[in-house]
Amino acid sequence: MLRGTHAVIHLPALLKNIRLAKRRLKPGTKFLAVIKANAYGHGIVEVGKYLEQSGIVDMFAVAIPEEGARLRNSGVTLPILILGVTDPDHVPGVVAKDLTSAVFTEEQVFAFERWAKLSGKTAHVHIKLDTGMHRIGVTDDAMLDGLLDAFDACPHVSMDGVFTHFAKSESDPEFTHLQAQRFDAFLKKIRARGYQPIVHAANSAATLDFPELQYDMVRFGIALYGYHPDPKRSAGSGLTPVMSVITYISNLKTIPAGEGVSYGLRFIASRPTRVATLPVGYGDGYKRCLTGKADVLIGGIRCPQIGTICMDQMMVDVSDVPGVAVGDEAVLIGRQGNERITADEIADKANTISYEILLSVSDRVPRIYEK
Ligand SMILES: *Cc1c(COP(=O)(O)O)cnc(C)c1O
Repeated sequence: MLRGTHAVIHLPALLKNIRLAKRRLKPGTKFLAVIKANAYGHGIVEVGKYLEQSGIVDMFAVAIPEEGARLRNSGVTLPILILGVTDPDHVPGVVAKDLTSAVFTEEQVFAFERWAKLSGKTAHVHIKLDTGMHRIGVTDDAMLDGLLDAFDACPHVSMDGVFTHFAKSESDPEFTHLQAQRFDAFLKKIRARGYQPIVHAANSAATLDFPELQYDMVRFGIALYGYHPDPKRSAGSGLTPVMSVITYISNLKTIPAGEGVSYGLRFIASRPTRVATLPVGYGDGYKRCLTGKADVLIGGIRCPQIGTICMDQMMVDVSDVPGVAVGDEAVLIGRQGNERITADEIADKANTISYEILLSVSDRVPRIYEK
């Protein structure tokens, strides 16, 4: 049985968004699809397999070893880069599954060397350089020298790549270029030691806005799913949102003026009001802080959400929808008729970013995949 509340994942839109990005890339630039955090809520296995089969990407990135293992177990064979820290406990599993780790300390390189040697394999790693984000990575020349000495001494560890991450590429060209300068200085040292790794730095914002910072590969995340990292530019970007979230009217009634709706009676009807109940709430990831702020599309019309959003249900004022009936479709994110609600719109009202809204759609909401 299909639950009434569901998310539609329109997979071909992923390809459209990648093609749009590729039109901005130098020929030969490699393309990495970031599918961490369950592919930003879209389904890591389905998105990973679809993109691998389409032959349009060169590599995947995830945040943690568990995500990489899940992809491998589902049959994905492309290289998978783990962007976060691989703990020593995870080294054996990562080597066994042929996952690629980010490294930035000598200890990490030696840990990979020990296990790769023992298991008769090569450990694949990318050096992470900290050029200003100050999250993880090599921070200075001395640390880099020590790391390169470790690589020299570790024949079972292959430095496949080197990368950094921009902190403000959606809003600050000056700081982004300062980071690139620091990156270039680190790269010079690495190359002077005879290494020729794949170099990458650009996230979605840099891929779309800084062609000069593409290096050998780009790491495309949020824009893959149809959103520009800067919400003000999503609309004009040509990107196509991949996810819609849809439910239906489960109950309908008219309340007289003066009556309240939902916990705390935070909405009081100022006129006789047609109230629709939808079987969706914060248990599905529709954030409670959207109470009284968000709209829902019903009958092609924007209907205001009213009363406190509950865990499993919420109410909407449908007084202005002619012929409204139980069972009618209600769109939380997506298009209906000429109207459209984006994750950017919901994010703005919830005081967050599109990333978090897409990720918030909970496990209880089945994903329906359109090919
Ligand atoms: C998440 C992440 C990305 C993708 O960023 P977007 O803004 O979604 O494109 C790229 N690189 C690293 C290191 C990340 O953590």
